[in-house]
Amino acid sequence: MAADGFQFAFTSRVETLTAPIWEKVKHHVTPLEWRAQAPLIAAINQLKAEKDAVILAHNYMTPEIFHGVGDYVGDSLGLAKEAAKSKARVIVQAGVHFMAETSKILSPDKTVLISDLQAGCSLAASITGADMRLIKQRYPGVPVVTYVNTTADVKAETDICCTSANAVQVVEEAARLWGTDRVILIPDEFLARNVARQTRIKIIAWQGRCEVHERFTAADILEIKAAYPGAEVLAHPECPAEVLEVSDFAGSTQAMNDYVLKRKPKRVVLITECSMADNIAADAPDTEFLRPCNLCPHMKRITLENIYETLLYGRHEVTVEASIAERARRAVQRMIDLPPPTVPARYDLIKARHHVNVELI
Ligand code: SF4
Repeated sequence: MAADGFQFAFTSRVETLTAPIWEKVKHHVTPLEWRAQAPLIAAINQLKAEKDAVILAHNYMTPEIFHGVGDYVGDSLGLAKEAAKSKARVIVQAGVHFMAETSKILSPDKTVLISDLQAGCSLAASITGADMRLIKQRYPGVPVVTYVNTTADVKAETDICCTSANAVQVVEEAARLWGTDRVILIPDEFLARNVARQTRIKIIAWQGRCEVHERFTAADILEIKAAYPGAEVLAHPECPAEVLEVSDFAGSTQAMNDYVLKRKPKRVVLITECSMADNIAADAPDTEFLRPCNLCPHMKRITLENIYETLLYGRHEVTVEASIAERARRAVQRMIDLPPPTVPARYDLIKARHHVNVELI
């Protein structure tokens, strides 16, 4: 295997060092692929120790990254918290650019690296700091809750951030703190519509979309249910509301993970990014995972090869201008300081079927 000109061999030492990882990924990686991946995994894990670095790997990373080199794995909320707690000098974000910015915002003294600066996000690209300032002028006194899938500029104009794991909780807390019955929840229109069905707070939404989750339809779900009676369908709240209406469970990637590991369904469909199922499958040998799923092209820009080069050359550093970082940190920290939910956040499916109007900006 060559990464930027370097050759790696599948030696017996590499085989021994990576044997526990192979056990986890062997249903998703062929033996031939493993001979190329295992030496890179061993080299990355060695470089991490030499450079005092940790890798934060999102649930949508491929299994060889997630299980092979991730020191902390999980959803964006979990990774944001780990970024703040980590004692390492260097953080490598195995995820997309807004996640690296969030790590930098929470850990200004650490070096934050991402392997591909083009690893973006359709939600983060849907709104700018200038849009936010106009929205705040139009709705004075209405608190602004922003999904973490946004740039630092947008977070700097935000009152409290949220993730799909805590969006309902954050919206209700913002309404309580500001003494209002309306909250602006941006930029994901579908998350906003799904949250609106879970709360009495009136939601004002932006028309951003996740290009992975917007493609699922209720017809897809009904087709799967007809083809595989008894299969349990778990949907992410970035999907259209009609998808949640016909699903068996809705929640963040962490909530889906907990559902599968605790309830051990015989057959399950995860209506989200494809790698999610591959990563949980390693810990859920008794569950059969059915497709469909959709790939996130931004997440898939991160590879073992470019993680290795990132550690070796210290590229590409992600920085956030100090005054923006300070204002953005307040919004992220307010979210982190909320009391943790006693059970992983889930969307009540009875409420998810009630149609509620949201005001679109
Ligand atoms: S899966 Fe959707 S929300 Fe996540 S990074 Fe990709 S485009 Fe953005």
